[in-house]
Amino acid sequence: MFVSGPKVDGNPSQADDKTTAFLRRTYREHYFKHHDDVEVPTMIQNREFGYIPFGKGMIRHLSYKTSGELAADLVKQAPSSVFCSNATYSNPTLSMDEKGWKGAELIFDIDASAIPTACRAKHSFWACKTCGKIIRSAERPARCPKCEGTGTAQLHWSCAECLGATKDHVSRLIGFLTKDFGVSSASIKVYFSGNRGYHLHVNDERFEAMEPPARAEIANYVKGTGLVRQQGSDRAPAEGGWSERITASANNDQPQRLETVINAFSSRIDESVTTDIHRIFRMPGTLHGNSGLLKMRVHDLDGFRPEYDPVVLGDEEVTISVQGSPVFSLKGRTFGPYSSEEPELPTYAAVYLMTKGLGRVAD
Ligand SMILES: [Zn+2]
Ligand SMILES: [Zn+2]
Repeated sequence: MFVSGPKVDGNPSQADDKTTAFLRRTYREHYFKHHDDVEVPTMIQNREFGYIPFGKGMIRHLSYKTSGELAADLVKQAPSSVFCSNATYSNPTLSMDEKGWKGAELIFDIDASAIPTACRAKHSFWACKTCGKIIRSAERPARCPKCEGTGTAQLHWSCAECLGATKDHVSRLIGFLTKDFGVSSASIKVYFSGNRGYHLHVNDERFEAMEPPARAEIANYVKGTGLVRQQGSDRAPAEGGWSERITASANNDQPQRLETVINAFSSRIDESVTTDIHRIFRMPGTLHGNSGLLKMRVHDLDGFRPEYDPVVLGDEEVTISVQGSPVFSLKGRTFGPYSSEEPELPTYAAVYLMTKGLGRVAD
C-alpha cells in the first residue's frame, strides 16, 4: 500500500550539531512550558502519531494512551514536527495494512504557494548551496552569480499579500462546506498551518467512512475541476452551488467564461491531502519544523495575523551566522535581507532562519 507522509520542505543546508542542539533545546523549553496548548485528538488511543527529530528522518506508527504520555514524549524528544492521523484505527501501531482503518475526519490544506498572486514574482528565491547567496529568479538559476556554483535550493517564501489571499481561499472553502454540503460552522475547525497556509478539520460523521474516490469528488467540486461534468452528477447540489455562483456572476454585456468564474470562486485546496485517508497531519498546538511558528486554531479568520499571532517562541537575543536570507516580518518587526553577516536576533527570528536552513549558531 502506498503511504504518503506529511509535506516537509527540504532545507537548503543541513544544520550543524550546535544549531541542532539549540533548536532542540528551544523546542523542548516550549513544550515543557506549553504542552497544555497541544490539542489532543478525540480517541487518542486509536490514532497513529509520528514525529521528525531534528536532523533525522520521520518516525511514525506510534501510539499514546493518554495526553500525559504524549506531553511527556514531546518534552523528552523535542521533535522538529509532530503529526497525528485524522483516521482512527483498531491497532494504530501495526503496519498500514494491519491497522484496521475505522474512519477519518475530512481534512483540507490550503497553501500560499498554490494561490496565483502577483507577489510571487517578488519572492521567488533560490539559495546557493555553496556560498549561500540568495538569488531572485522565477526559474531555477543555472549558476550562482557569486561563486558560479550550480546547486541551488528553492526557498518557499511568503508575504502579507499571499498569506492574505490564502485566507480568502479559506473563506471560499468554508462557503462550499456550509452552503453546498450543509456542514454546520461549529463542525469546522480552522488552523494556521504554522508556515504558509491553513488547515481545515471537519468533524461531521457523514464524511467519516468515505473512501478516497468520494473525498476526491468533494475536493474536485471545491476546486471547480471538471465542473461541467459534475453539474450533472447526483453528488453536486442541483440548486444553489456552482450554478448559483455562475448565474450570480453572469454579465449580459460580456458573458464571462466558465474559467473566470471558477478562478473567482474556487478554493485552491491540495486535493492529495483531502483524498489521503492514511495521512498523518501536523498536530494543532505544535511547532512547525520549518518556521518555529505554532500550528494554531484560528477563531476569527479576518482578524488573524499569520505573521504575528503564531509567533510563540521567546525574544531573548541570540547571535547567529546567516549566509543569506530575504527580508521577512515577524511579530511586527522586519528582518533582513541578510548576506554573510552575524545579526543579533530575537529567538523566534533566529529559529525561523535556522529551521529554513539559512542560519546557524555563530561560532
Ligand atoms: Zn554561490
Ligand atoms: Zn507573497
